[in-house]
Amino acid sequence: MANAEQEKPTDAGLKAQLKRLSAYHGYDELKYELLRVLKTNASSDEHVDRIVTRILDTRRPNETGFLSCPTPAELITYSKEIPARLHQTKPADKNCPICGGSGWRIVVLRGMSGADRCPCTRR
Ligand SMILES: [Zn+2]
Repeated sequence: MANAEQEKPTDAGLKAQLKRLSAYHGYDELKYELLRVLKTNASSDEHVDRIVTRILDTRRPNETGFLSCPTPAELITYSKEIPARLHQTKPADKNCPICGGSGWRIVVLRGMSGADRCPCTRR
């Protein structure tokens, strides 16, 4: 699919985000490799921000309390897990049996009804 607004992270943005990982053991040895991975795998500064935030929020020390820096391979995995865009939707399928092409469906939860994005608009 053609994407007209394809962006790339900036060098300054990458470096600023990467510094947030500097407390991890092994960061100094890995930082240039991590920078290279982020440069090729992240799609914008905002994406880099979310990748780094996910690492900081989920990384835990091992049994001995050692908190190691993510390896390039781990960073690639993190980058792939995190969507490049926050709200990834596509135009509704006009033959969709659920929404009939509106992109919305009515959901009823505990007696309350509301509109929800139809699954046909998800990537
Ligand atoms: Zn639909």
